[in-house]
Amino acid sequence: MNLDRKEIENLVAKAIIDIKTEQKGDDSKTIFGVNTSCGNASGYENYGVFKTMDEAVLAASKAQKKLLFSKMDDRQKYVDIIKETVLKRRNLEMMSLLSVEETKIGKYEHKLIKNRIAAEKTPGTEDLLTEAKTGDSGLTLIEYCPFGVIGAITPTTNPTETIICNSISMIAGGNTVVFSPHPRAKKTSQMLVKLLNKALEDAGAPANMITMVEEPSIENTNAMIENPKVRLLVATGGPGIVRKVLSSGKKAIGAGAGNPPVVVDETADIAKAAKDIVDGCSFDNNVPCIAEKEVFAVASICDSLIQNMKLNGAYEMTDPQMIEKLDALVTNEKGGPKTSFVGKSAVYILNELGIQADDNVKVIIMEVGKDHHLVTEEMMMPILPVVRVCDVDTAIELAHDAEHGNRHTAMMHSRNVEKLTKMAKLLETTIFVKNAPSYAGIGVGGEGHTTFTIAGPTGEGLTSARSFCRKRKCVMVDAFNIR
Ligand code: NAD
Repeated sequence: MNLDRKEIENLVAKAIIDIKTEQKGDDSKTIFGVNTSCGNASGYENYGVFKTMDEAVLAASKAQKKLLFSKMDDRQKYVDIIKETVLKRRNLEMMSLLSVEETKIGKYEHKLIKNRIAAEKTPGTEDLLTEAKTGDSGLTLIEYCPFGVIGAITPTTNPTETIICNSISMIAGGNTVVFSPHPRAKKTSQMLVKLLNKALEDAGAPANMITMVEEPSIENTNAMIENPKVRLLVATGGPGIVRKVLSSGKKAIGAGAGNPPVVVDETADIAKAAKDIVDGCSFDNNVPCIAEKEVFAVASICDSLIQNMKLNGAYEMTDPQMIEKLDALVTNEKGGPKTSFVGKSAVYILNELGIQADDNVKVIIMEVGKDHHLVTEEMMMPILPVVRVCDVDTAIELAHDAEHGNRHTAMMHSRNVEKLTKMAKLLETTIFVKNAPSYAGIGVGGEGHTTFTIAGPTGEGLTSARSFCRKRKCVMVDAFNIR
C-alpha cells in the first residue's frame, strides 16, 4: 500500500503526539496506531518488544535455535524481507521523520538517504565465503558460523540506520539480536523493531529474531551485557559504552567515537574540495561519526578554500569574541557537545546566537589555532574550524593529533599521491576518503558496502555479516580431494 505524503505526515503527527503525551507522563502506549504495551509475556503479539531484558533475551535465544536449523536460502529470504520492508516508501519516510522528531537530531532528507543506503548496501549471506582446503588427507572447510544471541547497543545519532544495518548483518550470519537503543530514541527503535518482526513473522520467519525492551536504560543495558545467553556484544556509540563492553569479559566489538580531520593541500582542486567539505560536514547536520569535523589547510590555498566554502553554503565567523561565545553556547560543563545542540542546523545555532541567517547556510566556519576546543572535541554539529598551516606535512601531523588515535575516518583533498599515501598510512583510519565528501566512505556516492557500525577500536572495521560470526573448521579425512 502506498500512502501519499499527507497521509504519512498525519501518521507521524499522531506518533509525535504519542511521544509528547508520554514525555508528559501519560503513557499512551501506542505508536502509528499499534499497541506498544507488553502485556503478553511470550511477546509474540508484541513483535519483539518486551517488558524485561530477560524476556527479550530468552525470546531471541529461542528464535536463534530455529534460525540455526534454517536453510541459507531462508536466511537470505529474511534479509531480503528486512530490506524490502525498510525500502517501502511509507516505511522509509515514517522512520526518517520519527527519528528526527524524537531525537531532535539531524535532517529528515538525509535520514532518508542513510536509511535507504543501510537497506540497499548492507551485504547479506553473500558475505559469508567458505574456505576449502584439499590434499592427500582429505577436505577441510572453514566457515563463518553464528555466535548465537548478540547484544547490540545503538546510538541516538543513527538509531534506525544502525538497527537496519545490524539486523541484516547479524541475521545473515545466523544470529538473532537484542537491541539496547538510546532511551532518547526508544519510540523510533520500537517502531522499527516491530515493523521488521511483523514483516518477518508474516513471511513465516521465526518470531523475535530482533528484540528490545520497552524501556531502554543503563540498567537494562547492564542486564543485557550480563545475561549468559548473550554471546557477543556490539557497541556503536561513544567511548563510555565501548569501554564498558570491552571490559565485560565477553567477546565484544567496539564501534566508537571519531573526530575526522580533513587536509587540503596546494595541489587540490580547491573549488571541488570546498564544496565536498561543506556537503560532507553538513550531511545530517554533522552527526555521522565519519563527517568532517575540522580542516587543516595549507596557507597558500587557505583563503581560496574559505572563499569557495562560502560560495557553497558556509557562514564565516571572524570575530574572535563571537567564536568564543559560540563555543560556550554549544559546550557542556564537561567540555563535550551540549545535547540540545547535537545535530542541529547551522541556521538554528546562528539564530541562538542572535545572528539571522538564510536557509542556504549549511555550516559555520572560523579560523582558529590547532589546539582550539572546537578542533580537538567531537562536536557533532555543523561547526567547522579551519586551521591554517605552513605546509602539507604539518597539516598531516596535526590531523593525526586531532584524530586522537581513534583510527576512525579522515579525508584528504590533494593530487599528490605521495602525500595521500603518507596521510593514509600515518593516521591508520578505518575509512580514508580521497577527494570526496566523507559520506563516500559509507557508500553514498562511493563504491563498496555500507555499514553504520565502524569498528575502529577492535579492528573489525567496516562490519558486515562475517564480522558477527565465528570461524569454524569441519574436517573430512581421506576423501574429497579429487585432483
Ligand atoms: P553515547 O555513547 O551517548 O550512547 C551510545 C549508546 O550507548 C546509547 O544506546 C546509550 O544509551 C548507551 N550508553 C552510553 N553510556 C552507557 C553506559 N555507561 N552504560 C550503558 N549504556 C550506555 O553516544 P550517542 O550520543 O548516542 O552517539 C554518538 C557517539 O557515537 C559519537 O561519539 C559517535 O562518534 C559514535 N558513533 C560511532 C559510530 C561508529 O560506527 N564507530 C557510529 C555512530 C556513532
